[in-house]
Parts: sequence; structure tokens; C-alpha cells
Amino acid sequence: MSMKTLITIISISCSLLFQGCKEWHKQCPVCGGMPISTLQIKDDRSKPSKNIAVWNRSICGNSLFETYSTICQKDWYAYSPYFETWTLVLENPDGFSNKLKEGIYSFPLPIVQNLRSLTVYRQVIGRKRTVHSISFWCETDEDYFKKIEAYSKKNRLKLKIDRNKIEGQSFLSAEYEEEK
Ligand SMILES: [Zn+2]
Repeated sequence: MSMKTLITIISISCSLLFQGCKEWHKQCPVCGGMPISTLQIKDDRSKPSKNIAVWNRSICGNSLFETYSTICQKDWYAYSPYFETWTLVLENPDGFSNKLKEGIYSFPLPIVQNLRSLTVYRQVIGRKRTVHSISFWCETDEDYFKKIEAYSKKNRLKLKIDRNKIEGQSFLSAEYEEEK
């Protein structure tokens, strides 16, 4: 095989590979819309965050997203080139165009007095699976934990309770993995 042929083969397979990647990040997997750079969107602080994964207003802001990712302007799923996933994080479980799985949507919350943070719902759409999850801080309460352990088992959720991560308070997350 000549060098020229080899180079041609390599460049064709690279472009095919690139094409595959391109398709996945080029279109929102939920509505098919064209995403734009997150830098082009201004965070309107008078309204709830469009996507907490991108605009986390807490002081310990995370954002893997902010600088170089893209976002769908219709339903606000943001693409992370690093993870190759589309993510939407909201406080409102009704705000997902691709509906949250029932087990996560109806996850039993602790009584309001025991809740110690916002309740955050998250959906991460990958090529092969979609992960639906909920997380929050609450007062450590074994009776409540027993209840949600049973609920999680019944609904096939992966439940994680970090008991007393801070004195008397636990961090809780539950997720449901949906294979495509
Ligand atoms: Zn979309």
C-alpha cells in the first residue's frame, strides 16, 4: 500500500469518526434543535435558572459547562464535549421536555422542615443511556430513610444516602438509568 493510499484511508476514517461525533453534538437529542454557545445566553437572575448545570448561582459554582459548551434554546439541554452528554438540571420536575422517569419524578421528599437544600432534578442524556436523578440535603431521619429505601427498591432506583455528612444532616441522591 502506498503512503498516499494510507493517508487517504486514514483521513476518510477520521472524517467518518468526526462526522459521528458531529451529529451527536450538533442537534439537541430531545427536540432536534440547533444548540448555540452558552456564552451567547445571558443568565436572567430574576427568573429560575434555565439549567442549573450551566448557571449554578450558588457560591460554590461548579460549571464544567460555562465556557465551551453549547445549549438548546428550546428546552435548555446543555452539551458537554468532555462527557459527550446532554444535561439538564432543574428545581422544577415539570420542566423537562423529555419527561423525568416516574420513580424520580414522584420521589417522596422529607417533610419541608427536614429539607436542608433545594431539591435538584437532573437528566443526563448519553448516546447509550439516559440517567434521571434527584438530590438534596435533609435532616438525618432513619424512619424516612427506611421509607425511601423501600421506594427505591420498588422503583429500581440507585439510592445513595451519605449519613451525617454534616452533623445531623445527610446528603441523598437517587438515580434511574434508562438504557436505550
Ligand atoms: Zn432541544
